[in-house]
Amino acid sequence: MRLLLGRVLLPALHQGTRRCSGGPPKEIRVRFAPSPTGFLHLGGLRTALYNYLFAKKHGGAFILRLEDTDRSRLVPGAAAAIEDMLEWAGIPPDESPRRGGPYGPYEQSQRLNLYHEATQALLESGAAYRCFCTLQRLELIKKEALRSRQTPRYDNRCRHLTSNQVKEKMAKNMPFVVRFQLPSGAHSFQDLVYGWTHHDVASVEGDPVILKGDGFPTYHLANVVDDYKMAVSHVLRGEEWLISTTKHLLLYQALGWHPPEYAHLPLLLNKDGSKLSKRQGDIFIQHFVQKGYLPDTLLDIITNCGSGFSGNQTGRTLPELIQQYNLQSISTHSALLDLEKLPEFSRVHLTRWIEGADTRAQLVAQLQTLLQEKFKDLIFDREYIERILVLRKVSGQSPQPIQFVFVAGKFL
Ligand code: GLU
Repeated sequence: MRLLLGRVLLPALHQGTRRCSGGPPKEIRVRFAPSPTGFLHLGGLRTALYNYLFAKKHGGAFILRLEDTDRSRLVPGAAAAIEDMLEWAGIPPDESPRRGGPYGPYEQSQRLNLYHEATQALLESGAAYRCFCTLQRLELIKKEALRSRQTPRYDNRCRHLTSNQVKEKMAKNMPFVVRFQLPSGAHSFQDLVYGWTHHDVASVEGDPVILKGDGFPTYHLANVVDDYKMAVSHVLRGEEWLISTTKHLLLYQALGWHPPEYAHLPLLLNKDGSKLSKRQGDIFIQHFVQKGYLPDTLLDIITNCGSGFSGNQTGRTLPELIQQYNLQSISTHSALLDLEKLPEFSRVHLTRWIEGADTRAQLVAQLQTLLQEKFKDLIFDREYIERILVLRKVSGQSPQPIQFVFVAGKFL
């Protein structure tokens, strides 16, 4: 079957997806797959949240999978901190390294046998090959390309080794990596947000490495194997991965596996359209936790600036976000985040927390701890804290909790 895209006729890569296959509907399973090479920031929280909302809206499962195969870039403590932050935000995974689950383990470094199995299958079918090129040779190819102002790409030389040459090199214990042989003329695919997308990857890239010399897989292979083995139904991830999706679909095809649906999410940017910089330090979730913001405030501000919801009023709670969430209304426009509006969002949510009996009790307990830490030798009475809270709310000055501690100090 051929589909008309713009002026060109392009074949569709995966017709008969699970939605139109006529079979029983599959369980919705989505995953958030960060690399523990850093701490969770606002952009990551937003990707996790969109996955969580999709799962909860459709009665499915939300998985946390740690993509920790780049051993040189691991940051100590980041893996645990990411899961802590999801819990803090009120969007805990159903399956994760900490919680376990039927498709574990949930850390890629513990699933090496699965990547080796897939690599073996690809080698046997001829879809992958061993590459013995030295780092020096690869470096040379890169330099040559840059000198002639071309994009560096591997020249696929080892594709053409005979099986005897491979045997010889292996007998000599020559180090190798495994590369996936990119077929030419890749098909287009339908992204649930970006629509029909075409990227003839083989015409612009050399064959990608799928298994490194240290026996660890690269992102592309591990991602495909795990999404398949974890029965992921929908991949909702940042737009920066849209360009890699054709490669992933080619791997699915070579392995004879049915791929998930893909929805790429537009980026979260600063108000002026610049990239959210992790170096600023104030986009990490821990920063907002330390400042005493409520999770509701953060979830609201990161969704309010983008699409995907019916209506866009300030002050939405998590159940409201679930209810109003609609994948089909996500547009391709970047979400522009205005952190100057944070105090305003904070005020709305604090006011709501103060009004609700249960949430007020939680807030009082939280403040009691903060006050106790700040004024060590004083005893803080719950009713008293509550009275001040209500008073501040009435006077329209509900600040964020951490400021409240200082404000409260003046009353005591
Ligand atoms: N490990 C990748 C990341 O950190 C995951 C991308 C994906 O979701 O496929 O962004």
